[in-house]
Amino acid sequence: MKELNPLLKSFLYILGGDIAIEVGNELLNSEEDDITDEGITENIKDRFKGENPDISFEENDGEFLKLNTVRKTLYKLYSGKLAQFRRIRDKSTGWFIYYWWHEFDLFEEILLEKRRVMENKLRDRLKFEENNYFFVCKDCKDSNNQFNFDRGFELNFRCPDCGGPLEAQENKDLIHFLMEKIVLIENIDLSIDTIV
Ligand SMILES: [Zn+2]
Repeated sequence: MKELNPLLKSFLYILGGDIAIEVGNELLNSEEDDITDEGITENIKDRFKGENPDISFEENDGEFLKLNTVRKTLYKLYSGKLAQFRRIRDKSTGWFIYYWWHEFDLFEEILLEKRRVMENKLRDRLKFEENNYFFVCKDCKDSNNQFNFDRGFELNFRCPDCGGPLEAQENKDLIHFLMEKIVLIENIDLSIDTIV
């Protein structure tokens, strides 16, 4: 059996728990011919049968694994852009049959995109903190007077109410923290060379 890339495995677990890993395994190992949700459910049951009879993917009842659980998991993978399907109407029953395949080759792109979103969020927050670097008068704290750098400069860093010194607010630590996080995220290695 082909093995899932460890990073992908963790990602699947976050998406849908243990069953998402097993569904991922089935999709990876049936890439030659697309597989139905029923097929995936049966394969997982077969693999676990005898191996570990105590394990169950269902909570609170005796059943080992329901078709509906596999369907929900496939939909989670589909929402996460890691699986695709096509449906064909069964002429005899009139029901749709869903054939599934994985799109794990998009995984690296998904990770890079997630990193880009996270990095942008941090940069926006950093910009906000930098633009909101205020000066306050400690003696008139209750007056809620805040001055940005330009206004503080105009005031010669003196409080217009009491004449006391204006002091920089303490978001320096936060700015430093945000900068460190950005560097950290930029340097994470997300390259996946042996994904399939
Ligand atoms: Zn003051």
